[in-house]
Amino acid sequence: MRYHNYYPVDIVNGPGTRCTLFVSGCVHECPGCYNKSTWRLNSGQPFTDEMADRIIDDLNDTRIKRQGITLSGGDPLHPQNVSDILALVKRIRAECAGKDIWVWTGYRLDELSDAQKDVVDLINVLVDGKFVQDLKDPALIWRGSSNQVVHHLR
Ligand code: SF4
Repeated sequence: MRYHNYYPVDIVNGPGTRCTLFVSGCVHECPGCYNKSTWRLNSGQPFTDEMADRIIDDLNDTRIKRQGITLSGGDPLHPQNVSDILALVKRIRAECAGKDIWVWTGYRLDELSDAQKDVVDLINVLVDGKFVQDLKDPALIWRGSSNQVVHHLR
Protein backbone atom coordinates (compact mmCIF):
# COMPACT_ATOMS: atom_id res chain seq x y z
CA MET A 1 0.00 0.00 0.00
CA ARG A 2 1.02 3.59 -0.54
CA TYR A 3 -0.27 6.77 1.06
CA HIS A 4 -0.45 10.49 0.30
CA ASN A 5 -0.76 12.18 3.67
CA TYR A 6 -0.67 11.39 7.35
CA TYR A 7 -1.88 13.91 9.91
CA PRO A 8 -0.87 12.88 13.44
CA VAL A 9 -3.25 15.48 14.94
CA ASP A 10 -6.41 16.26 12.99
CA ILE A 11 -9.69 17.89 14.06
CA VAL A 12 -11.33 18.10 10.61
CA ASN A 13 -11.68 14.59 9.16
CA GLY A 14 -13.90 12.95 11.76
CA PRO A 15 -15.08 13.52 15.32
CA GLY A 16 -12.77 14.74 18.04
CA THR A 17 -9.00 14.86 17.78
CA ARG A 18 -7.72 12.09 15.54
CA CYS A 19 -4.94 10.66 13.44
CA THR A 20 -5.80 10.65 9.72
CA LEU A 21 -4.27 8.60 6.93
CA PHE A 22 -5.01 9.27 3.24
CA VAL A 23 -4.06 6.20 1.22
CA SER A 24 -3.33 5.99 -2.53
CA GLY A 25 -5.59 4.28 -5.06
CA CYS A 26 -9.22 4.74 -6.02
CA VAL A 27 -11.17 3.20 -8.92
CA HIS A 28 -14.36 5.23 -8.55
CA GLU A 29 -13.38 8.36 -10.51
CA CYS A 30 -16.26 10.42 -9.10
CA PRO A 31 -16.76 13.67 -11.06
CA GLY A 32 -15.98 16.52 -8.67
CA CYS A 33 -13.65 14.42 -6.50
CA TYR A 34 -11.62 16.77 -4.33
CA ASN A 35 -8.76 14.29 -4.05
CA LYS A 36 -7.98 13.28 -7.64
CA SER A 37 -4.26 13.17 -7.00
CA THR A 38 -4.81 10.04 -4.88
CA TRP A 39 -6.46 7.96 -7.62
CA ARG A 40 -3.31 6.23 -8.89
CA LEU A 41 -2.19 3.26 -6.82
CA ASN A 42 1.44 4.09 -7.47
CA SER A 43 1.14 7.70 -6.31
CA GLY A 44 2.30 8.88 -2.90
CA GLN A 45 4.87 7.02 -0.83
CA PRO A 46 5.18 3.48 0.53
CA PHE A 47 3.30 2.64 3.71
CA THR A 48 6.04 1.04 5.78
CA ASP A 49 6.13 -0.91 9.04
CA GLU A 50 7.72 2.18 10.58
CA MET A 51 4.70 4.23 9.51
CA ALA A 52 2.34 1.71 11.10
CA ASP A 53 4.43 1.84 14.30
CA ARG A 54 4.19 5.63 14.29
CA ILE A 55 0.41 5.54 14.00
CA ILE A 56 0.17 3.12 16.92
CA ASP A 57 2.46 5.35 19.00
CA ASP A 58 0.46 8.47 18.10
CA LEU A 59 -2.84 6.82 19.04
CA ASN A 60 -1.34 5.83 22.40
CA ASP A 61 0.23 9.25 23.00
CA THR A 62 -1.11 10.50 26.34
CA ARG A 63 0.06 14.10 25.84
CA ILE A 64 -2.37 14.72 22.96
CA LYS A 65 -5.30 12.38 23.45
CA ARG A 66 -6.78 11.08 20.18
CA GLN A 67 -10.32 9.77 19.96
CA GLY A 68 -9.30 7.47 17.14
CA ILE A 69 -8.18 7.25 13.53
CA THR A 70 -9.65 8.19 10.17
CA LEU A 71 -8.73 6.08 7.14
CA SER A 72 -9.50 7.87 3.86
CA GLY A 73 -7.93 8.46 0.51
CA GLY A 74 -8.11 7.46 -2.20
CA ASP A 75 -9.99 4.40 -1.03
CA PRO A 76 -8.81 2.30 1.92
CA LEU A 77 -11.01 -0.53 0.61
CA HIS A 78 -9.41 -0.55 -2.86
CA PRO A 79 -8.81 -4.29 -3.47
CA GLN A 80 -5.06 -3.72 -3.44
CA ASN A 81 -5.18 -1.81 -0.14
CA VAL A 82 -7.43 -4.18 1.77
CA SER A 83 -4.81 -6.57 3.16
CA ASP A 84 -2.58 -3.78 4.50
CA ILE A 85 -5.58 -1.89 5.89
CA LEU A 86 -6.79 -5.09 7.58
CA ALA A 87 -3.37 -5.59 9.17
CA LEU A 88 -3.33 -1.97 10.40
CA VAL A 89 -6.88 -2.16 11.77
CA LYS A 90 -6.06 -5.43 13.58
CA ARG A 91 -3.02 -3.80 15.18
CA ILE A 92 -5.06 -0.78 16.29
CA ARG A 93 -7.69 -3.06 17.82
CA ALA A 94 -5.01 -5.09 19.63
CA GLU A 95 -2.71 -2.25 20.73
CA CYS A 96 -4.84 0.90 21.07
CA ALA A 97 -7.69 0.20 23.48
CA GLY A 98 -10.71 2.45 23.25
CA LYS A 99 -9.78 4.18 19.99
CA ASP A 100 -12.44 4.42 17.27
CA ILE A 101 -11.79 3.67 13.60
CA TRP A 102 -13.65 5.55 10.86
CA VAL A 103 -13.25 4.51 7.21
CA TRP A 104 -14.35 6.41 4.10
CA THR A 105 -14.90 4.34 0.93
CA GLY A 106 -16.42 4.80 -2.51
CA TYR A 107 -17.97 1.31 -2.31
CA ARG A 108 -21.42 0.81 -0.81
CA LEU A 109 -21.72 -1.35 2.28
CA ASP A 110 -24.01 -3.77 0.44
CA GLU A 111 -21.52 -4.38 -2.39
CA LEU A 112 -18.40 -5.17 -0.37
CA SER A 113 -16.34 -8.30 -1.03
CA ASP A 114 -15.60 -10.76 1.78
CA ALA A 115 -12.10 -9.29 2.14
CA GLN A 116 -13.50 -5.76 2.45
CA LYS A 117 -16.07 -7.00 4.99
CA ASP A 118 -13.24 -8.38 7.12
CA VAL A 119 -12.08 -4.77 7.58
CA VAL A 120 -15.60 -3.46 8.19
CA ASP A 121 -16.10 -6.10 10.91
CA LEU A 122 -13.37 -4.39 12.96
CA ILE A 123 -14.20 -0.70 12.53
CA ASN A 124 -16.66 1.60 14.25
CA VAL A 125 -17.96 3.72 11.39
CA LEU A 126 -18.07 3.32 7.60
CA VAL A 127 -18.95 6.29 5.41
CA ASP A 128 -19.83 4.67 2.10
CA GLY A 129 -20.68 5.41 -1.51
CA LYS A 130 -19.34 7.48 -4.36
CA PHE A 131 -19.42 11.26 -4.27
CA VAL A 132 -22.29 12.38 -6.56
CA GLN A 133 -21.98 16.02 -7.56
CA ASP A 134 -25.72 16.50 -8.21
CA LEU A 135 -26.40 15.32 -4.65
CA LYS A 136 -23.71 17.51 -3.08
CA ASP A 137 -24.87 19.26 0.09
CA PRO A 138 -22.42 21.33 2.16
CA ALA A 139 -24.76 21.01 5.17
CA LEU A 140 -24.08 17.27 5.45
CA ILE A 141 -21.76 16.14 8.22
CA TRP A 142 -18.91 13.69 7.41
CA ARG A 143 -20.15 13.15 3.83
CA GLY A 144 -20.21 15.20 0.67
CA SER A 145 -23.36 14.03 -1.10
CA SER A 146 -26.70 12.81 0.20
CA ASN A 147 -26.40 9.30 -1.33
CA GLN A 148 -23.51 8.57 1.03
CA VAL A 149 -24.37 6.98 4.38
CA VAL A 150 -22.63 7.20 7.75
CA HIS A 151 -22.96 3.66 9.10
CA HIS A 152 -22.41 3.49 12.85
CA LEU A 153 -21.52 -0.19 13.06
CA ARG A 154 -20.58 -0.65 16.71
S1 SF4 B 1 -14.46 7.55 -3.94
FE1 SF4 B 1 -13.64 9.41 -2.97
S2 SF4 B 1 -11.47 9.49 -3.57
FE2 SF4 B 1 -12.50 8.03 -4.92
S3 SF4 B 1 -13.06 9.25 -6.75
FE3 SF4 B 1 -14.83 9.21 -5.37
S4 SF4 B 1 -14.64 11.08 -4.13
FE4 SF4 B 1 -12.63 10.69 -5.07
